[in-house]
Amino acid sequence: MSAPDPATPLPDQLGAGGEAPGVLKFFYGPMDCGKSTLALQLDHNRGKAGFRGLLLTRYDRSAIPQISSRVGIVKPATEVDDREDLAELVGRSWAAGVRVDYLIVDEAQFFTPAQVEQMAQLADDSGIDVYAFGIATDFLGNLFPGSARLFELADESVPLQVEVLCWCGRPGRFNARVVDGVVAKSGARVVVADTEAAAAVHYKVLCRRHHRQGDLGPTAGAGTFPLDS
Ligand SMILES: [Zn+2]
Repeated sequence: MSAPDPATPLPDQLGAGGEAPGVLKFFYGPMDCGKSTLALQLDHNRGKAGFRGLLLTRYDRSAIPQISSRVGIVKPATEVDDREDLAELVGRSWAAGVRVDYLIVDEAQFFTPAQVEQMAQLADDSGIDVYAFGIATDFLGNLFPGSARLFELADESVPLQVEVLCWCGRPGRFNARVVDGVVAKSGARVVVADTEAAAAVHYKVLCRRHHRQGDLGPTAGAGTFPLDS
């Protein structure tokens, strides 16, 4: 597939169904596994090839919504809420003269199942490639509803977990919510916090066994292994 000429007028393709379908891919892993870095790398590569993308995120805590990686790369993103229809959002972009060839969806676990269905619709009916990056399970080890829908609908689900280890050395697959030094076993599904161990409420990546046992290890509080690169 060759890159479209950026000067070409926008095709009236939304909902037309005549385009070659795009792909919906779900890249998932625990916190600090390099998801945002990969998202920005993918955006960079496709941008260089002449494609135009839209970056979406949820619950961004910065003044200007963005996708940021731990290696210091930052790109502005559009923050959406539960009510946003992603197909309409892309339609508005086209109407404003900004072509959309692909979507990068960061924090995909926080999108609603309906919005995940809109991602599939954009891929199927508008030929848009959708790359979703997110965490599969919440602090109790239950699938986020958005992530569950992504596993069901995505053409491909790609695990990103090799870089994050539990303190015991096993692959870290679970994000434990640590409240005042104790692994939380109940609470709201969404509490936005970082992996900074100094904070009263933070997240720590553990293996299944130590997540189940609530065992933060001999150096509890020493933090995770932020090998995000
Ligand atoms: Zn462990």
